[in-house]
Amino acid sequence: MPELPEVEALAHHLREHAVGRVVHRVDVSSLQVLKTFTPSWTELHGRAVTGAGRHGKHLDLDCDGLHLVVHLARAGWLRWADNLAVAPPKPGKGPLALRVHLGPPGEGPGFDLTEAGTKKGLAAWIVTDPAEVPGIARLGPDALSVSRTQLEDLLSGRRERLKTALTDQTLVAGVGNAYSDEIMHTARLSPYATAGRLPGEALDRLHDALVSVLTDAVARSVGQGAAKLKGEKRSGLRVHARTGLPCPVCGDLVREVSFADKAFQYCPTCQTGGKPLADRRLSRLLK
Ligand SMILES: [Zn+2]
Repeated sequence: MPELPEVEALAHHLREHAVGRVVHRVDVSSLQVLKTFTPSWTELHGRAVTGAGRHGKHLDLDCDGLHLVVHLARAGWLRWADNLAVAPPKPGKGPLALRVHLGPPGEGPGFDLTEAGTKKGLAAWIVTDPAEVPGIARLGPDALSVSRTQLEDLLSGRRERLKTALTDQTLVAGVGNAYSDEIMHTARLSPYATAGRLPGEALDRLHDALVSVLTDAVARSVGQGAAKLKGEKRSGLRVHARTGLPCPVCGDLVREVSFADKAFQYCPTCQTGGKPLADRRLSRLLK
């Protein structure tokens, strides 16, 4: 799933390549992706792209006051093309959900919003104010702008596990499953630590890691072609999705805790005093 660094890189790419161009046509091949009906997507036709930005993990293309907001969810992606195919996509076929022509169709650039797999989560809204998107209205402060004091205030009194708190978009916006694993590994904190009970020194490490992990990932991602971003994300990860591989810091094997539809990874030596965390699925198998 694209998180803050990847979405920031896509926004950067759109600022460099889309701003100043005109939306010539929007082709919708998956109506279920569109979460708003008025204004219609045809209202985007003829509008100049005046900006591109990010709200947490939402991408925001500003078309002269009318915003195309996109949440890529788990398997959604934006594919930029310098010369976008002219033919409107066939409804309901393949991963293509939405095509935006930023030049005369067949002669100009543009992008496709695609989604792989059967679990559909890709969502797009056309709104005059991004805050009309429910997921944006509820967002906490952006992870890259949170100060050390603010982070302490946000976590204060929270009883959930640190893993849960860091991925809660209403608490801090932009961090998902992959980068929360990386941040906690860098900060040498257990995913199961109680979020509101971190001592001051642990909060220092957490804040430093939040900033450094995300800043490094943004720097790596920005400037890469948007198509290469996913691979780049994987190559920069130290524990996430690396179950069974050696921790690059201490050499211990990276462990995993799995749930029905997702898993997270951590290093016992770096993060949990050498103790493996309880894994419900694993303990059920061992019984
Ligand atoms: Zn380690």
